[in-house]
Amino acid sequence: MVEFQCRLENGEVFSVEFSEKIRFLRKKNRLSQEELGRKVGVSNRAVSKWENGQSLPSTDTLLSVATVLGVTLDYFLKNEIATARERRIEEGMESLRELYKIGKGPSSSHTMGPAKAAQLFRRKHPEATLFRAVLFGSLAKTGAELSLDACLEESFHPIPVTVAYDRERLALPHPNTMQLEAWEGHRLLERWEIYSVGGGSIVIAGHPVFKPRRIYPHNSFRDIASYCKAHGLRLWQYAERYEGREIWDYLSAMWDAAESAIEAGLSAEGELFGGLGVQRRAKKLCSLRHPDENAQTRENRLVSAYAFAVSEHNAAGGTIVTAPTCGACGIVPAVLKYVTEEKGLSRTALLRAMATAGLVGNIIKTRASISGAECGCQAEVGSACAMAAAAVGELHGYDLDQIEYAAEVALEHHLGLTCDPVRGLVQIPCIERNAVAAMRAIHAASLAGFLADSRKIPFDSVVETMYQTGRDMPRRYRETGEAGLATLYDSNERIPL
Ligand code: SF4
Repeated sequence: MVEFQCRLENGEVFSVEFSEKIRFLRKKNRLSQEELGRKVGVSNRAVSKWENGQSLPSTDTLLSVATVLGVTLDYFLKNEIATARERRIEEGMESLRELYKIGKGPSSSHTMGPAKAAQLFRRKHPEATLFRAVLFGSLAKTGAELSLDACLEESFHPIPVTVAYDRERLALPHPNTMQLEAWEGHRLLERWEIYSVGGGSIVIAGHPVFKPRRIYPHNSFRDIASYCKAHGLRLWQYAERYEGREIWDYLSAMWDAAESAIEAGLSAEGELFGGLGVQRRAKKLCSLRHPDENAQTRENRLVSAYAFAVSEHNAAGGTIVTAPTCGACGIVPAVLKYVTEEKGLSRTALLRAMATAGLVGNIIKTRASISGAECGCQAEVGSACAMAAAAVGELHGYDLDQIEYAAEVALEHHLGLTCDPVRGLVQIPCIERNAVAAMRAIHAASLAGFLADSRKIPFDSVVETMYQTGRDMPRRYRETGEAGLATLYDSNERIPL
């Protein structure tokens, strides 16, 4: 079987897409589009469309194509994303530095990743007089609402950029695909194809730029826990062992940024941009103290206020910390702030909890996905909730089984959660959803404190289930703005603003 791959920006190897496979094989077999079409009973125009990613052959035709081109059907059908995932699992986990990152909202995959790609590309071509960006898949469907064109203009400034939205190309190696071109006058300097794979990480086909080391030898909760048990380590100690002591300075900087986002969100008022009429509510929630408020109500109100604060700040394009993404950035900070303040815990305890949460997020990122466009909101908010629940477990001094159970309960009860943000903005349902998940993380950890000895499902199984569920989820429920609340919002009667 012919194997051809492109190297990802983060060092991973990613199989190239169907259209490129077929073009490569046709040329290798010295066939014109017309000759291939004749052999498999279609027009040369049909072959051209396959190679341009505008359509896919039927399964019967694909079988003929595979036979003519001398490869197996499996070769074409093998899921590209699954291939990259298998390699991730094989190679181990990256540093927590690749998970927690400071960036500008509102979306890690739809604004942060593309902006990063644009800045890298611009630095590579200082002589360019014009840049051109073409957005595909989920980026094309929701990019306009998220002001992605403005984000790219800012990244390329002062060089002009034209932005095109291609919603027709269906065969994509990743749901968040974009192309960048650098022009000097009429001369094309270079073209990149980029995949924004979630959490602000990008992949540049065929152009290795930066390769984060996979510093952890383990990639499942089971293996990490058995290593920790064998060496008498807590999870934060395990993280320190592989990251080095410098990780505490890094996490400390991340917490400073996350705390600033909470403060900024709590002090802001008014309507968020985008035309939905969504008012900021964090400040109101924080100050809305009822005279006979009980402890539980107060907890819910404050945790929600902190989550609203960060999420609203993100929705307004403010600076946040991915935990693990922009869309889900309010959950971990809200829970960490509330629990450490309530228990009077030190910053050291908070950072250890952050490292614990990071390991949980890293397991999910390696074995499944943290991208809403890939696996729905279960991969973003569900993952953040699992991270926050594990953090609470660490703050409570739970043992490994209890922390695992807390993370498992938190993720399990987000299974199947779709991503359907109204008009592609990270506002409805995202902001409230962060608050609900933050409260749920505390409840999951509370349950784990009582029941961990009777648990039945390992965390790793729920991660696998989340991934399988996400891959089975119809594409329109994965950050395309084509289903769910995203479509019903505009067709149903709404509460007056
Ligand atoms: S619905 Fe969930 S996954 Fe989708 S944009 Fe909102 S927070 Fe992110």
